[in-house]
Amino acid sequence: MASPKLELRQLGTTGLKLSCVGFGASPLGNVFGDVPPAEALASVSAALRLGINFFDTSPFYGGTVSERVLGNCLHELKVPREEIVVSTKCGRYAEGFDFSAERVTRSVDESLERLRLDYVDLIQCHDIEFGDLDQIVNETIPALQKLKEAGKVRFIGITGLPLSVFTYVLDRVPPGSVDVVLSYCHYSINDSTLIDILPYLKSKGVGVITASPLAMGLLTDSGPPEWHPASQEIKSACRAAALLCKEKGKNISKLALQYSLMNKEISTVLVGMNSVRQVEENVSAALELAVTGIDEGLLHDVEAVLQPVKNKTWPSGVQQS
Ligand code: NAD
Ligand code: MG
Repeated sequence: MASPKLELRQLGTTGLKLSCVGFGASPLGNVFGDVPPAEALASVSAALRLGINFFDTSPFYGGTVSERVLGNCLHELKVPREEIVVSTKCGRYAEGFDFSAERVTRSVDESLERLRLDYVDLIQCHDIEFGDLDQIVNETIPALQKLKEAGKVRFIGITGLPLSVFTYVLDRVPPGSVDVVLSYCHYSINDSTLIDILPYLKSKGVGVITASPLAMGLLTDSGPPEWHPASQEIKSACRAAALLCKEKGKNISKLALQYSLMNKEISTVLVGMNSVRQVEENVSAALELAVTGIDEGLLHDVEAVLQPVKNKTWPSGVQQS
């Protein structure tokens, strides 16, 4: 009997079909702890075997390590190029932000070399709230447009934490010049504010990716990394929610991922993964959701615990004038 397949969803009007669970490669840059090369390779291999076709990285993750490791894995596994969708970013680096046309143009060449690819499917301006949004509109997107014409990138996106940056840019760029937005930490059980702008994004014809369904580790048994920007109040509430699940013999990460997957207006949910076990658990969570639906009782109890911090976030970026 054929095993059930991960659902594929259309990414806006790009024509790309992404697996509903996407492989977030930031952990391959060792940002959530060290990942030995063999474990990275095994994780990417498991992802491909289980139907994940979307891989997201950035030159920022681990100071180029994530891109290099992902590139080596895809190369070693001899993945047919047309069977995968690869996304990387530009403008954010270990040494700081630079969204100038010159830097992002050079950046794409550098990324292609590290990824060992001739083109990326998606290039995204990385965390634009740290840049000058007018520069993104007037300089960065036009520069990426040229790379699109040159065949180095297929589609263009923007990423960031505050949702207002998406509307600012999309209201000002020529229609069709931004294909995708990647939002993170705004479609999780503790914060689902992305919902508010989904109709707007749809009206602009852009594809929507949500990342960090586990709220960058808040909704896991082991808890967030040291650098996590949430307040103590948010961290404590999420820890209490994880404990509640554990007491009931359930897993908060599974519930959290399923919560993000339920909204089909969102094309893919990017989860950071650094072990075969996590890949298997996350794919299973998606397959199980398709068959049995979410555990409504558990979700209700977890939402009650998280109610005091619901939709609370943290500051990110520079004050825009
Ligand atoms: P996440 O919420 O996906 O959490 C990742 C953490 O959860 C890691 O420590 C991972 O090892 C762990 N984890 C994964 N599966 C698990 C499971 N089944 N059980 C327990 N723990 C599990 O956060 P993230 O990694 O920050 O986000 C996912 C991806 O989205 C990133 O890797 C990146 O590709 C992308 N992203 C992009 C931006 C941006 O562009 N600004 C921001 C955030 C995330
Ligand atoms: Mg388009």
